[in-house]
Order: sequence, then structure tokens, then C-alpha cells
Amino acid sequence: MVKKNMECHSKRKVIFIAVILVFFLGAGVIAGSLEPINNIKIAFSNNHEINILTTKTTVEEILKENHIELLEDEMVLPSLTSNVSQNDTIKILKKSESNTIATLAAKGENIELEELLKAYSPIVEKIVVERVEIPYETITKDVSNGNSNTTEKVVQAGRNGIKEVTYKIKYQNEIEIERLEISSKVIQEPVNKVVNVQTKETVTSRSSISRTTYTVPTGGLSNEVRGITPKVTTLNASAYCACYKCCGKSTGTTASGKQATAWYTVAAGSGYPLGTIIYVPALSGNANGGWFVVQDRGGAISNNHIDIFVGSHSEALQFGRRNLECYIYVK
Ligand SMILES: [Zn+2]
Repeated sequence: MVKKNMECHSKRKVIFIAVILVFFLGAGVIAGSLEPINNIKIAFSNNHEINILTTKTTVEEILKENHIELLEDEMVLPSLTSNVSQNDTIKILKKSESNTIATLAAKGENIELEELLKAYSPIVEKIVVERVEIPYETITKDVSNGNSNTTEKVVQAGRNGIKEVTYKIKYQNEIEIERLEISSKVIQEPVNKVVNVQTKETVTSRSSISRTTYTVPTGGLSNEVRGITPKVTTLNASAYCACYKCCGKSTGTTASGKQATAWYTVAAGSGYPLGTIIYVPALSGNANGGWFVVQDRGGAISNNHIDIFVGSHSEALQFGRRNLECYIYVK
């Protein structure tokens, strides 16, 4: 019995030692993994997320452990050397997407990583077509022939054109952050404004009548008026042709019975007898030298007005209405 007891005792001893050994070995193993195990979330730039368990503490180590390499256009938050702890998130961003976050951080506000990540939102691209005005240009023409007494006259009004522009616009948080013009198409060309710098027309009131100083003209009908003192006055001049619109008939026959001659025949009021010769200095550049003969009458023609017979209706319209100085030679 005693012996048997002894055997039992030594068996217990072996078991005890074994248990002790196992304990120490186990303790050694446990001692090797005494660092805390943290649950870390890694969020990728494509919005994909993974949760990992790690004993590593820096961002760089954790990425390495999980075989994650940053691409050239990627960055990581927090930075590679930062420490992370339980339930932290490591966010991998495209560098372009980090601008908003950088802007927020630059405001000096105390923004935690979580808030920074909330500020991140994907960039949305849209194709947008907009109508844009093309401003007209103003062209100034000097037609004053060096005259110093000039005035500006708008001969053609300007009008803006329209073009259709296609943009590629990037939005983040519904705010436009980038705009790129892809193409544009002119819908309507602009019309340039044309301004003439011209000699000021002498505005003479109807009450101002004749004056006595004048330059004696030469050429044209000057031989026929030799010795006659002209009445020099400003008349309102227009032009007409032989058409139905101008005359109500289209025969070209004048009140004097003579056939009308372009740039020679004028219609004048009854104050000027038929056959009166009129010299217009401003029209001396024409083939007739500026000389006209009163050969016609008109219902609407007063003594302050002459109507010059021209070759075509368009020429008559182009002449318009002008105040012109006239030398009137009544025979
Ligand atoms: Zn006409």
C-alpha cells in the first residue's frame, strides 16, 4: 500500500511539473502577443471598405501587413506615420478628392478625422450646354476728310451674337469645382456696330434765309448764270425716281413737260419758277458738278425743300434726306 501510495505521489509530481511547464510555455506564447488587437476599418477611394484585426499601430505598418500599396494619385488619412487605435478608420483618397478636406482643414477649425471624412464626397461630372452671348464690336470709320468739325453717327446698330457652348462641369457637394469647354457652335453671328465720324451738317433753322457771301462756282451751268446773284440758303433735299411709288405714275414726264434727267432735274416749291438753276456745293462731286434745274413740282414740296430726280428707287432711298446749302439762280 505504501509503495503504491509512493507511486501515486510520484505520478502526481510528474503531472504537476508538466502542468507547470505547460503554464510557463503558454505564458511565454501569451507574452509574445500581449500587444492589443485592434479592429481597424480601411476605406478605399472606390468607396469599398474592409475591416481588419491587427496588432500593428501605425498606418504604414497596417497597410503593409494587408498588402495595400498607395497608387501615385492616392493619399492616405491619417498620414502613414500616424498611430491608429481601436475602431479607427484609415481612408485612402484620390489626391484630387482631398482638396475639399484640405480646404476645410486649412480653415483652422478643429476638425476630427471623422468630420474630415464626412466632408469627403464623390465628384460628379455633368455635360452642360449653355447659350452664351458673343459681344459685338464697334467699328469707327473716319469719313470727315480731315475736317475738324465732326460728329459721330451710328450707321449700323450693333447686335450681340449667340453661341452654344458645351461644358464638362465637375461638381462636389453640388458645388461647381471645375468647368471645361468641350465645344462651341455659333447660333447667330454678332452684327458689328458701325460709327461714322463725319463732318457736322450745318443745321439751319427755316427762318434763316439767304446770305450774300459765297464762292462763285465754275463749270456745269456756271456760264448760264453769269451775272446773276444767287440766293444762298439751306434747303432740305431728298431724291425721287420715275417709279409709281415716287410719282404715282411711271412716265418720267415732268411738270415742265420735259423728260426728267437723273442728277439734273429737281422738283421744287412754287417759289422757284421752272427753269431756276440751283447749285449745290456739297454735291459738286457728282457728274453734274452739283448743278440742277427746277423742272418739276410735287404736291408735298414746299419752298424749303427740293427733290432731286435720280436713276433708280434704291438710289433715291440711299440719298435719304439732307440739309444742303443751295445757290439759287432765278432767271
Ligand atoms: Zn421711286
